[in-house]
Amino acid sequence: MQYVSTRGRAPILDFEEAMLTGLASDGGLYLPEVWPQFSRDDIQAMAGLSYPAIAARVMAPFVEGWIEPEALHDLTRETYAVFDHAAVVPMTQLDDNDWLLELFHGPTFAFKDVALQLLGRLFDRALARRDTRVTIVGATSGDTGSAAIAGCAGRDRIETFILFPDGRVSDVQRRQMTTVQADNVHCLAIDGTFDDCQALVKTMFGDDQFRRAIGMAAVNSINWARVMAQIVYYFASAVRLGAPDRDIAFSVPSGNFGAIFAGLAARKMGLPIARLTIATNANDILARFVESGEYRKSAVVETYSPSMDIQVSSNFERALFELHDRDGDTIERLMADLARNGGFAVANDVAGATRQIFDAFRLNDDGILQEIRRIHGESGVIVDPHTACGTAAARATGVPADVPVIIHGQAHPAKFPDAVAAAIGHAPPTPDRLAEVMDRPEHVEHLPNDLAAVQAFIKKAKTSGGP
Ligand SMILES: *Cc1c(COP(=O)(O)O)cnc(C)c1O
Repeated sequence: MQYVSTRGRAPILDFEEAMLTGLASDGGLYLPEVWPQFSRDDIQAMAGLSYPAIAARVMAPFVEGWIEPEALHDLTRETYAVFDHAAVVPMTQLDDNDWLLELFHGPTFAFKDVALQLLGRLFDRALARRDTRVTIVGATSGDTGSAAIAGCAGRDRIETFILFPDGRVSDVQRRQMTTVQADNVHCLAIDGTFDDCQALVKTMFGDDQFRRAIGMAAVNSINWARVMAQIVYYFASAVRLGAPDRDIAFSVPSGNFGAIFAGLAARKMGLPIARLTIATNANDILARFVESGEYRKSAVVETYSPSMDIQVSSNFERALFELHDRDGDTIERLMADLARNGGFAVANDVAGATRQIFDAFRLNDDGILQEIRRIHGESGVIVDPHTACGTAAARATGVPADVPVIIHGQAHPAKFPDAVAAAIGHAPPTPDRLAEVMDRPEHVEHLPNDLAAVQAFIKKAKTSGGP
């Protein structure tokens, strides 16, 4: 499979190059040149298979020519064996036709592990083949950082620098990153927002000289291989509920648009997805876009769901590319408008096409607490504040009662004990593995929201020499 940039001006790459490159040289994001097609028979044949087996089938066309199907299956088996549930991503029934997909059984208790555990292993394979090393520089709104660190831990060809907004991630989230003691892991607390951190990383990527000097690679959700790994759980969960013989809807708490973009990809590959509901918190740029066709930045608001406190969703560019029939010139122009004027509007037919597929819903902090309380009262299940946006959105936009809705359970509620306690009067039980991080010493560097300072720190702190 070959990969093309959403802005149409970067070289066409193969899978390994696209994965190691991350952001395209024209500022765009890589996507497969064509969407592989899964027939009804192909999908039916997934019923009853294990998660690693489904993963190998769904991802095979994307990595064709790079890894043999058997080796890929070995890799997915090894990857998902570290999850603490035999079903990898089990489901819990919340209501007659509403299902919670528990994506948080990996090492850091959030869905990011599903992709990053695999990505660490894919990187390993690629770097060993090339006999080279990389420096991962990533921005996190909370969960990516720890999952990236866990995914790269023990892989000696990878050094990791994670930028996070100082004071804007939960204690547990911060400690999951800063308590990892390893020479090749660096946690940078930036005096700014997540969008600031993300902008710093993007700019560093655009700095050719710097990128080459440190052998920079990205594991942010701009990395195609992460989106690829997330497509799998749309197929796996839909098949459990009767796809392809019935349509399924999904409700996905969204920030950077990676998780829900994987749903659009699954739909393009033939999975019968009736609706994709974008659930946002008070940072509702995506909901406003679906309603109005206008994508316009506003100030970031801090909420109980910090991993969704995002205004500029990097993967949204991939959706725009698809919604504009893959017209890279238009995407280039829209992104220039976004950078210059803080927003853009799409043509009416594109806005209409968006609403054919996506619904959108927003939930403010009061609503989040009420929703955690409601779900707990009705089913005894405790959801985290991100997932609560998804459960509230599930039936709010008119998805027909006979269509099952799969709500993505994005994080374990114990990662957000304060919000849960505010909602139901007590914190959720903390798994032992999570409790351990609360006692360990932290290692963190505080830096200003300043490109030169961050670049200087990375160059100086890097232990592994040149790439
Ligand atoms: C990352 C994350 C999100 C947002 O997912 P995107 O793929 O960035 O849209 C939502 N909830 C939690 C708990 C997360 O970790």
